[in-house]
Amino acid sequence: MGWELNLNLNPHLNPHLNHTAMAVKFLITGGAGFIGSNFIRLLLQRYPDGKVINLDKLTYAGNLNNLKDIENDPRYEFLKGDICDEKIVEKACKGVDIILNFAAESHVDRSISGPAVFIKTDMMGTQVLLDAVRKFKIKRFIQVSTDEVYGSIQKGSFKESDNLMPSSPYSASKAAADLLVHAYIATYKVPAIIVRSTNNFGPYQYPEKMIPLFVTNLLQGKKVPVYGDGLNVRDWIYVLDNCEAILHVVENGELGGIYNIGGGNEKRNIDITRVMLRHMGKGEEVIEYVKDRPGHDLRYSLDCDKIHALGWKPRHSFEKALKETIDWYSSHQGWWKPLKEKV
Ligand code: NAD
Repeated sequence: MGWELNLNLNPHLNPHLNHTAMAVKFLITGGAGFIGSNFIRLLLQRYPDGKVINLDKLTYAGNLNNLKDIENDPRYEFLKGDICDEKIVEKACKGVDIILNFAAESHVDRSISGPAVFIKTDMMGTQVLLDAVRKFKIKRFIQVSTDEVYGSIQKGSFKESDNLMPSSPYSASKAAADLLVHAYIATYKVPAIIVRSTNNFGPYQYPEKMIPLFVTNLLQGKKVPVYGDGLNVRDWIYVLDNCEAILHVVENGELGGIYNIGGGNEKRNIDITRVMLRHMGKGEEVIEYVKDRPGHDLRYSLDCDKIHALGWKPRHSFEKALKETIDWYSSHQGWWKPLKEKV
């Protein structure tokens, strides 16, 4: 197909290259969101001669304040636009080597009350990007997916080869995108890789998601809403660990592959809540048990042997990273207070 597949970004495999000498151009979609903004910051650290274009529609979840510290960096450019818009995507692709697709509607509860935009952005937007990968012969495309595509598992952990069994419109739209990526790899040999990570937490997460919602509620003297009996289990990963894992896959992953990324911290929601209450000096009386989410998956769990064998492991301990995250929200009230009014 004429793709340049040997874009060797790994300095260990290719000692003649080092990152300072590599003027790789990245297109990050959804870079004004939680994980995307943390990823852009990491990229600019790791690729001093790299270039980053951030294409983001700036939905309610997109926030340019997430990138205030780097907005004037000459290596960084922001382009406002929708990944479903072929014209703007093609404009953004000029001279790009690698695309990472973080752009998505990402909140399960919102997908239950309004699924259409999820299908549009998460699935159809991915198709527009995949067509651009073909047209512009992009050297690598990373689809940022989620553990939720596998659905719930009572015992054991999902491997990358397991079937997809999504339960919410959100996870179904992400699963549909994964299948589309798979089909483009099989049909058009696009140089794509899928990464599926577990629940992220850390700085710059929109305060509708559990951890920032709970911290900010507690800082405002409000209660914390726990779904059902609080026994749902999630694996948690600190966002910087996830960003490092994704970059590790960009540099070392096998084209056409899928990589699960987990933090190795499976916790019941009620237990996370209790740890947070302890850190913030609050008692159980602030817990408000609320009606369970329809279709609420009981447990997510990923087998991460494949990415461990590729040479990545999380660096942060859950307890310490959670404490630092709580401290970050405590000391960045100017960041979240305006967002909280909209939640
Ligand atoms: P987020 O909701 O914080 O950010 C999403 C970003 O995408 C926002 O900046 C938003 O403006 C942008 N966006 C939305 N629709 C767009 C469109 N049509 N065109 C261009 N930009 C658009 O999400 P996040 O938590 O940072 O998640 C990023 C990615 O990681 C998503 O694909 C999500 O499915 C995946 N993921 C997230 C988690 C998690 O725990 N947060 C876990 C696994 C996977």
